[in-house]
Amino acid sequence: MSGLLGGVSRIASFWRSQSNMAGMFDNSTVIQVQQANDIVDVISEHISLKKKGREMVGMCPFHDDHRPSLNVSSVKQIFKCFACGAGGDVFKFLQMRENLTFPQAIERLAERAGIKLKRTKPEKGQTQKPSEDIDPNKLAKVNVWAAKYFQQNLHDEKKGKQTRDYIAQRQITPESIKKWQLGLAINSPDDLLRAAKAKNIPVKLLGQAGLITAQHQDKFVNRLMFTITDVTGRVIGFGGRTLDETGAKYINSPTTPLFDKSNSLYGLEQARHQIVSAGTAVVVEGYTDCIMAHQFGCTNIVATLGTSFTAGHGRVLRRYAKKVVLLFDSDIAGIEAANRALDICLSQRIDIRLASLPEGKDPCDFLLAAGKERFEQLVSDAVDVFQFKWNRLTASFGSNDTLAGKRLAIEEYLQTIATALWAGNVSPIDRGLIVNQVSKIIGLDGKQINAELSKRLRQAQRAATYNAKNQKAWTIDYGRGLFATAQREVMEVLLNEPKLFEIVKQKITPDLFDVPILRQIAAILFETLNTNIDASLAEILAKTESVELGSSLVELTQAGEEKGNFRARLTGALNAIERYQAQKQTSLIETIEDQRQFLRKVYENTGKENPHNVGMV
Ligand SMILES: [Zn+2]
Repeated sequence: MSGLLGGVSRIASFWRSQSNMAGMFDNSTVIQVQQANDIVDVISEHISLKKKGREMVGMCPFHDDHRPSLNVSSVKQIFKCFACGAGGDVFKFLQMRENLTFPQAIERLAERAGIKLKRTKPEKGQTQKPSEDIDPNKLAKVNVWAAKYFQQNLHDEKKGKQTRDYIAQRQITPESIKKWQLGLAINSPDDLLRAAKAKNIPVKLLGQAGLITAQHQDKFVNRLMFTITDVTGRVIGFGGRTLDETGAKYINSPTTPLFDKSNSLYGLEQARHQIVSAGTAVVVEGYTDCIMAHQFGCTNIVATLGTSFTAGHGRVLRRYAKKVVLLFDSDIAGIEAANRALDICLSQRIDIRLASLPEGKDPCDFLLAAGKERFEQLVSDAVDVFQFKWNRLTASFGSNDTLAGKRLAIEEYLQTIATALWAGNVSPIDRGLIVNQVSKIIGLDGKQINAELSKRLRQAQRAATYNAKNQKAWTIDYGRGLFATAQREVMEVLLNEPKLFEIVKQKITPDLFDVPILRQIAAILFETLNTNIDASLAEILAKTESVELGSSLVELTQAGEEKGNFRARLTGALNAIERYQAQKQTSLIETIEDQRQFLRKVYENTGKENPHNVGMV
C-alpha cells in the first residue's frame, strides 16, 4: 500500500510546477531529451515496425495507410511518410500522434527517459501566462492519480470488501485485478473530488479529465472501475460498471483530448505483442470478456468500449494485425452489428472474419463454461466475408423475403465482391465462380451480373482515387517560378551539405526569401549553422516547433539527397537569386524614374505648384 501512496504524492507535486510555454527549455536540454529517446523505440511503442534495408517501415498513423508507408531512419533519427508527406523527428512524431505542443512533447519524452527538465527563466518584462489549452500530459497525470486512488479503495480492508467479493464471484483472479488496474469508486457523491482537493489538484483539471461533472460531483459513483490505457500504457480514461444497478450498467469517461472511444480499444496495450506475433486480433465487446480471455491465456483479445466497431478501430488494428476476428452474438442485433463492421473493414482492406457465439452467451460465460480450447476453436472457425454475405444472400432467397428484400441482398453481396475485387482480395478465377453461383441462385444471366460488378468496381476505384487525393495531409506550398525554385534549391543543398553555408552566407540572408515556408526554414538554418556548421537534421528539427516545418525539413532533405550534385546546384541557384535581385533593382529604379517623369509632367502642366504637393491638387 505504501508504494501506491508514494506514487500518489509524487504525482501531486507535478501540476504545481508546470506551465505551458514555448521556448522554456534551452536548446541543449532539448537535444539531450531528443538523443535519450531513440526514434525507433518511441515509434515502436505506437506502431509495429519492420526492418527494410537500412530503415524501418510501418503503417503510417497519420493517414489512411494501406501499405507500410512510414519510414523511420535510426541513423538520421527521423521519420517520413511517402504517402501523406508527414515527417520529422521524435518530437514531431509525438506532437502529431498525441496532439501535443512542442514543449509538451519535450516534457513527455523527458519523463520517458527519466531526465529532469531545467526551465529557462523568462526574460525581463516577460510574464508567464498559463495557457488556456488543455494539456494532454496533465490529463494523463491526473488519470494516473485517479487510477491509483480507485485501486486503493478496492484494496481497502473495509471499503473494498463487497466489491472484491463481487469480483471473486465473477471469477476474476487477483492477478487480473492487478494486471488490469481494477478499482473502486465508492458510494459517495464527491469522494474523489475531496481526495483531489486534499492533494492540491486543481478542480478544473478534474473537470477537463472528465472525472467530475459540471456540477462538481464525482462522475463515477459506486462503480467497479476499469482503467483504460492507450497502446503505450498511458491512462487515457475509465469505464465504470454499476455496483447497485442504478443508472447505466456501464459508463465511460467523456471524450477528452486523450480519450475518444471510437478510436480506442480496451486491452490494446496488453494484447499488442501477441496480436503482432499471431497476426490476428480478436475483438469482443465488454471489459470483463476481454479480461477473462486474457486470464484464460488468449492474449490477442481487445474490446470496444460500449460502441460498435468503427472505422477508427479498424485503422488502429490494421497497424498490428493482418486479420481481425470479430466475436459477435448470434441474435439479430449481433448479426447486423457484425455486418456493419464487416463493411467498414472491407473498405479499409482489412481481412476480417466473423465468429458467432451461441445465442445468449457472452465470451466471458462461454469461456467459463466451455474452456479455452473450445473458445480458440470458435475463433479459428470464423467465416470470411464472402461466406458470411453468401449466407445472408442464400438465407434471403430461401425464405419468403419480399422482392425488394431479395434485391437488397443481391446488391449488398455484389457490393462486397466489388469492394473485395478492388482491394485485391478476389482473384479472377474466384470472380468467375462467384458470378456462376449468384447466377444460379437468382436466375440472372452471368453477363448481366458481370456488367453490374464492373460498374460497382469502377465506383469503388473512383471513391478510392478521391480519398487518395484528400489524403495528402502535408501539401506544402513552395511557391512558383525560377526565384522560388532557387530558394528551395539552396535549402535542399544546405540540409545535405551544411558546410556549403560558408559560401551561402556571403551572398544571401534569410530575409531575401519570399516563399513563407522557405523563409522560416532559412531563418532556422542560418541561425543553427552560424553557431554549428556540423548540425545534423535532428538537431535542426529540435529547433523547430511546428509540425508543418518539420515535415517540410524532412521533405527538402530527401528531395535534395536524391538530386545530389550539391556544389553545382548551389552555384546555379545563387546565380539565379543574384540575377533576380539585380532585375528587381533595375525595375525598382525604372519605377522611380517613371514616377519622377510623371511628377515633372504634372508640375509642368499645373504651372508653379510644388511637385511634392501634387496629391493635394
Ligand atoms: Zn502517412
